[in-house]
Amino acid sequence: MGRHFAHSCSHRLLSTLHDQLGLLFLSSLFFVLTPLLGALKFLFVSTCEAATPFLAHPFVKPAADAAMLFFTDARSIIVTLVIMPLSLVWDIIDALEDRRLDLICVPLRNGGARADLHARRVKDVQAQVVRAVQGGAKRLCTARPSYLTMNARFAKYKRYWRGIDLEQLRDVVEVDTGRKIVKVEPGCSMGRLTKTLIPLGWTLPVLPELDTLTVGGLINGFGVETSSHKYGLFNHTCVAYEIVLPSGELIRCARDMHPGLFAAIPWSHGTIGFLVSAEITIIPAKKYVHLRYTPCSTHAAFLKTFEKASQSSSNDFVEALIYSPTTSVVMIGTLTDDLPAPHRGSLSSKPGDKLNSIGRWYKPWFYTHAATYLARDCAGAEYIPLRDYYHRHTRSLFWEMRDIVPQGNNFLYRLCFGWMPPRISLLKLTTVGKVKELYEQNHIAQDMLVPMSALTASLDIFDREFGLYPLWVCPMRLLSPPSTKPVAPLPQKSTGRALPTTTPPGGMCPPHPAEQLYVDIGAYGVPASSNFEAQRSLRKVEAFVRSVKGYQALYADTLMTSEEFEEMFECEGLENTRKQFGSDLLLPRVWEKVNAAARH
Ligand SMILES: Cc1cc2nc3c(=O)[nH]c(=O)nc-3n(C[C@H](O)[C@H](O)[C@H](O)COP(=O)(O)OP(=O)(O)OC[C@H]3O[C@@H](n4cnc5c(N)ncnc54)[C@H](O)[C@@H]3O)c2cc1C
Repeated sequence: MGRHFAHSCSHRLLSTLHDQLGLLFLSSLFFVLTPLLGALKFLFVSTCEAATPFLAHPFVKPAADAAMLFFTDARSIIVTLVIMPLSLVWDIIDALEDRRLDLICVPLRNGGARADLHARRVKDVQAQVVRAVQGGAKRLCTARPSYLTMNARFAKYKRYWRGIDLEQLRDVVEVDTGRKIVKVEPGCSMGRLTKTLIPLGWTLPVLPELDTLTVGGLINGFGVETSSHKYGLFNHTCVAYEIVLPSGELIRCARDMHPGLFAAIPWSHGTIGFLVSAEITIIPAKKYVHLRYTPCSTHAAFLKTFEKASQSSSNDFVEALIYSPTTSVVMIGTLTDDLPAPHRGSLSSKPGDKLNSIGRWYKPWFYTHAATYLARDCAGAEYIPLRDYYHRHTRSLFWEMRDIVPQGNNFLYRLCFGWMPPRISLLKLTTVGKVKELYEQNHIAQDMLVPMSALTASLDIFDREFGLYPLWVCPMRLLSPPSTKPVAPLPQKSTGRALPTTTPPGGMCPPHPAEQLYVDIGAYGVPASSNFEAQRSLRKVEAFVRSVKGYQALYADTLMTSEEFEEMFECEGLENTRKQFGSDLLLPRVWEKVNAAARH
């Protein structure tokens, strides 16, 4: 007993000493690095941001265009030799900075002190808002630089509106396993959140793909994953929010506390106030996903398999990749802790019992791996480690990487360079001048959310206007009360039973009264349709989506006019809430932030 006590004391002492030495080292390192990196970052970012107008100057344009065309052709070399090593350096610095901030931060087990720290950070946000308003600010927005956001564009308004710095709000405040709730600050990324939750045996019901997506962005914007047929969108798994209004007042809202505010925050894009925390449901994490692949060689076979899988909540994950108008692979996943017996000790395993760590850097890109089941015309199954499953599309950025580095999925390339994936922020910053123009005219990244009963008609119009494959197809429930607006009937009979709603009325995206089961159709890359004409095609698809009571994901370009936007989204509840809390005086309407002219 005495020995055990002494052993545990010395272990804690050593671990504290280790942490203190680590903190001393990291603090000294960042004491030197911070000004240096700050200056470098400022130089790099301002050069990239100033590049587009400079390269468009009539004297510079011809030479710049020729150089840019050369760089476009050589982009994969530049990405490999410059952007990927820079991304690696950025990742290392980020990881060290994260570690330093964790060492400074109160440990999570010390719940009361974490809550106090969170309260101090919120007070600082309140003080910033009050100071900004007293200082005469006419419009407020978050100060997060555009290049860090998971958004295809840069927000122009960030240059003119007063930014409120929420950067310090980046931690998990509390994990309450009794209530099955995690309270988290808005700047906490999916990567950071899962690194805290998974070792404790918990995870999020809806965990969007990329590590850099933030809680604040996924609530104020939108978030979906292949478990959304069961749990709804990211915001449907949230049970309470804390928000700082433009008056500086802090308000907590939930289903039964300021229900209108609670319903209006999702998709509001920061137009009510500044989100400072969210309470999100958690579920037990398991070690693996047992993933079954069903190749389909006709559209009818796809529809039957996909609809059936999406209606069953015993499937933990459902996703389809559509490779052509007729061919697709439907993937159905189940969480499990157990591997079949042969894995314990023996290397041999039956087909379907294989453990495949698809996240390793040398493994093929996931969408090409799934396509092999189609090529063999043979269903199959395998076990995938949970984190590898969550990040299955990360290395290939769905399939965007095939256009950026066409040889990127070659085995030798993956072996040599696959361990340093490029940062989206760096790709975004270096898409300037002619490359940007070419990108705008020849590339799309869109997610359209349509009722399941409109899936066939939606795929038809995506094919006609974009002709872009693969398409990402992910079922989801809109767990909000149905729309009360008059809406057109759906192209086909509604599918599936309705589940109870999880948000009060007043949200921007209520489902069609006849259909709660929706599908996210994601099109990313260079369209191949001869009909494709960037603006005309997108406007046509937007009009179709409006006609079936669907929604456009607003991280992407939207060409809708203000009237069309209000036809698609139900803004009345949001506008009433904004008036009720005085947000309309200092914060813009959503359309003012997301329309094409507000972004560059
Ligand atoms: C390459 C790429 C991959 C993507 N992959 C996925 C995916 O796998 N799954 C998925 O669901 N989505 C995905 N998205 C879309 C993404 O979900 C949205 O962009 C989302 O808004 C989150 O991005 P973010 O965390 O960078 O938030 P931001 O872009 O920073 O924020 C989104 C909006 O919310 C507002 N906001 C953010 N924080 C606050 C706050 N604290 N208070 C008030 N307002 C706030 C911002 O002002 C902005 O208007 C992807 C987007 C891209 C470009």
